[in-house]
Amino acid sequence: MALATDIIMTLSAEDQHRLEQFWQFCLTHQYFNVGYPEAADFDYFKLHKFLQFSINNCGDWGAPGNYLLNTFEFEREVMHYFSSLFSIPPEQSWGYVTNGGTEGNMFGCYLARELFPEGTLYYSQETHYSVAKIIRLLRIKAKEIPTLPSGEIDCDKLAEQIVDDGERHPIIFANIGTTMKGAVDDIGAIQRRLSAIGIPRQDYYLHADAALSGMILPFVDDAPAFSFADGIDSISVSGHKMMGSPIPCGIVLARRRFVDRIAVEVDYISASDQTISGSRNGFTPLLMWAAIKGRTLAQWRERTGRCLAMAQQLVERLNQQGVPAWRHPHSITVVFPRPSERTWKTHCLATSGEHSHLITLPHHHSLHQLDAVIHDIVQDLGPAAACSDSLPVALACTA
Ligand SMILES: *Cc1c(COP(=O)(O)O)cnc(C)c1O
Repeated sequence: MALATDIIMTLSAEDQHRLEQFWQFCLTHQYFNVGYPEAADFDYFKLHKFLQFSINNCGDWGAPGNYLLNTFEFEREVMHYFSSLFSIPPEQSWGYVTNGGTEGNMFGCYLARELFPEGTLYYSQETHYSVAKIIRLLRIKAKEIPTLPSGEIDCDKLAEQIVDDGERHPIIFANIGTTMKGAVDDIGAIQRRLSAIGIPRQDYYLHADAALSGMILPFVDDAPAFSFADGIDSISVSGHKMMGSPIPCGIVLARRRFVDRIAVEVDYISASDQTISGSRNGFTPLLMWAAIKGRTLAQWRERTGRCLAMAQQLVERLNQQGVPAWRHPHSITVVFPRPSERTWKTHCLATSGEHSHLITLPHHHSLHQLDAVIHDIVQDLGPAAACSDSLPVALACTA
């Protein structure tokens, strides 16, 4: 049998040098992020040593097969944590650690399509682009619905469209925090509209895309509706966004009775598999587990509150300097008109149509970290810039 030392790989001096250069690049830019919601305040040092094993979480963590090196125990605890966070008993739900928000959205849409194969999927105009891929991959009929200026789906237009289509089994893809504006679709209003147009609860499916806000709303007071208790059927959250992870990951959680319909038996691992991939990352469940175990509820609330307070300070500071910036109450996404190309490119600001945004993350210890980007935004949009007509009245600046 080969010893571990026989199979060690070696890198040439030149290749080692390239890695060293990349290491320096990463150190320099580790806190670059002001436009994309990836938190960088994590420390997973205790997990580094597990990278020497070929860990694989193929299949269902609840029905272990015979691949011994897995982290199913940890994945189970991660999923129990999220079932409690999203108000559904563990025995009534099932989900798993995904490769990110997109896979979780796809899983939710897959369950919906299996339930209602002829159903039309309705999503708002400000939905993440992942939905476009998903409806093509799954070949689901779909309709885009206009949003209000604040970024939420227009519930009246949604109801009208469903009536026009004569759709008896709508699949609603709701945003719990849109990518560009952090807008939360009103789940309660959507359900009231569906009921008013004569669609009973068991005849529609409601998926929540909570990529970023899924790890914000559980930790604030007076959060808008977003959980299973509020009527959703599945939810997807990214692990590498608000939580923070060196490897993209996420979770998806759904009502168990819908998941049971899609399980396939796999004889050669002697287990069942309801997930989208075959082999699955066994390391990311450890990361998510450590993130959850590493902070108490009070610490999650404090960390979230700090980001929200910073977002509010940022809005006020930009408003004071004549920039019509705004945010939704429970969002760390600060929205303002698109600055010059030079500014958004220099600072890696996410920009779409007429808007750009800054996201205040837990690794921003104070607004001073954002001084340079604020300066450039004010230069571009400062006192001379008039308040944009496209801003929602209630949220528009007072400048
Ligand atoms: C980021 C994001 C996604 C996609 O998540 P990934 O983890 O990048 O796959 C989906 N929806 C929304 C609203 C997002 O912001």
